[in-house]
Amino acid sequence: MTNDAETPKLVPVADGFFVRQEIDNIAWVDLGGYAVVVDALEHPEKEDEVFSALARTLGDVPVRYVLNTHTHYDHVALNPAFQRYFGAEIINQQIAPLGPEGRWFRGSRRSLHMLPAPGCHTEEDCVLWLPEDRALFVGDLFGWGLIPLTRALRNETAVLLLETYDRLLAYDAAVVVPGHGPLITSGELRRWTEYFRWLVAETARLVVEGADDDGIRRQLAPPQDMRGWWRFLAWKHEDSVSKVLRAVRRGLLTVAAIQRGGS
Ligand SMILES: [Zn+2]
Repeated sequence: MTNDAETPKLVPVADGFFVRQEIDNIAWVDLGGYAVVVDALEHPEKEDEVFSALARTLGDVPVRYVLNTHTHYDHVALNPAFQRYFGAEIINQQIAPLGPEGRWFRGSRRSLHMLPAPGCHTEEDCVLWLPEDRALFVGDLFGWGLIPLTRALRNETAVLLLETYDRLLAYDAAVVVPGHGPLITSGELRRWTEYFRWLVAETARLVVEGADDDGIRRQLAPPQDMRGWWRFLAWKHEDSVSKVLRAVRRGLLTVAAIQRGGS
């Protein structure tokens, strides 16, 4: 499964809507009259391959905008190529900041809403919603079991994360495109919130019982139904356990806060 998820493949989401899925994902969507690209990979040398796939699937529809969910290096490498090739405008929270209400992009076929959802991975995270396709881009807010925060995990950030996930779940998306790895549905988003709450509750319980760190790690086995999640067993579960354990031990993360925050 791991290798398969890391072999580049072109996933058709709908007519004129494709995700080139690999470790890093890039998508292009024909809005009708023009196309938008979502995220722009890590490796500039993929330009030729990406542009020929784009031409093969969209014909001569011009790319007018590149929308970056955030500006980490592994989401922006092809930005200059799209500027050069199409004169595309780059939209992200660094160079063209959106207000809290976001921005709509409309064409004759479909529309797209780019909306800031800051603080869960970076201060500049955006999500993108395509109502006609019920498709949601979540960037790196979903990390296959990873706690996406780059800030410290504590009550405030945990609650923000859960509240943001509530907003994502409210879309009731049929297709969810993460920044990395295979496409998912709202089911995996929901499963992650359950997993996160479970991790916090179980860790807190074991800490109160006086268990040591090794004992806690042993007892918090990866849930059976998540064992097939991309890279989950390799390191993501272990990383999440460490982060939660550290925050709980320091008294920064409590079950009460998590239960209040989000639904
Ligand atoms: Zn990132």
